[in-house]
Amino acid sequence: MTNAVRPSEPAAPGRTLIPAPARANPATTAVAAVSGGIKLRSVRKSYGSTLAADLPALDIPAGSFTVLVGPSGCGKSTLLRMIAGLETPEAGQIHIDGRDVTTAGPGERGVAIVFQDFALYPHMTVARNVGFGLTLEAKHDRRNGLSRAEIQRRVGDMCDLLGLGDKLARKPRELSGGERQRVALARALVRRKPVLLLDEPLSNLDAGRRAPARAELIRLHREVAGTFVLVTHDQAEALSLGTRVVVLNAGRLEQVGTPEEIWRRPANLFVARFLGSPAMNILPVSREADSGDQRRLQGWRPADAVAVDAAGPLPARDDPGQVFEGVVDVAEFVGDRRVAHCVNDHGTWSVEFPAATPVTVGQRLRVLVPAESLHQFDAQTGVRL
Ligand code: ADP
Repeated sequence: MTNAVRPSEPAAPGRTLIPAPARANPATTAVAAVSGGIKLRSVRKSYGSTLAADLPALDIPAGSFTVLVGPSGCGKSTLLRMIAGLETPEAGQIHIDGRDVTTAGPGERGVAIVFQDFALYPHMTVARNVGFGLTLEAKHDRRNGLSRAEIQRRVGDMCDLLGLGDKLARKPRELSGGERQRVALARALVRRKPVLLLDEPLSNLDAGRRAPARAELIRLHREVAGTFVLVTHDQAEALSLGTRVVVLNAGRLEQVGTPEEIWRRPANLFVARFLGSPAMNILPVSREADSGDQRRLQGWRPADAVAVDAAGPLPARDDPGQVFEGVVDVAEFVGDRRVAHCVNDHGTWSVEFPAATPVTVGQRLRVLVPAESLHQFDAQTGVRL
């Protein structure tokens, strides 16, 4: 897993592009704190008999890059749309920067949105697409709207920031998919709202474009110093992008934490199984090893085995951890690594190891997992022990 080392929440903004209100006093904007903190309290939403959201409490800190992640249908988009003001919760409150916006319209919340299937105006240039919202605002509100020169300046700055500086005069059809995506981002960011909501913004990109696009989003978040809330079903994307990750399942919160926290200490079996590819191995603890009536399951990640051995003894260690044995059922080559999927009397498990280690189907494999890499769960409730 590649996870750029970043402070979990940014300190004072270096270049405050988003939070400064359009007409704020220039003397105060230089030291403006990052805004866009979101609080949800007892928020509920259902569609007929389907529960889409039931959230006792969720805080999205100002300046965070918060990722809402979970399998398809878990309620991510519903949550994002309620924050945006596109859906109204049937119960509960939503606050943005301390203001109750539960019934406020999308335009009154200080949010900008980038949708998955963002549509650019095909007959407009990049510059006009990006500046369109500001131009419209200026037309509707001549007193508070920005001047044409100011809009041009902002559009130019934002396009420079997104690497579109030399494409201002192009039409969308003359851009690559990744460039169109950046135009959609620029169009949302140029409005300088405290909160930017992103609904699966990378899912339409080719696989090869997604990794650089992630890095761009991380850099952008740092540079504009606003609150980003992004929806994805992709756990790797959530770990890579988020300073804070919210794992959802069937409309409910499973865990909230930094990527490291939810990776190292998954709160329950759902989170443990959801993160990582190949997924965490989950095996029953043998009856002899189990004390009392409580049945336990133990988990370990396929990459956490410190020694893999075909036949001979495993190397001695101070902390012996636990040995797992099995017969190789499927062997995968994945570039610099191999993954072996094994079976034994208790179930199946996978292990990842350097590609130089040979492995063949049908061979017996033994692996050593250090004690600190073993996770214990209550077999009944799934809760971490
Ligand atoms: P996700 O974004 O995680 O895929 P959604 O928030 O879109 O999930 O949907 C959550 C649940 O609510 C799903 O079961 C979905 O089918 C249902 N749902 C969402 N929107 C509607 C709607 N407008 N009408 C009926 N059911 C809906």
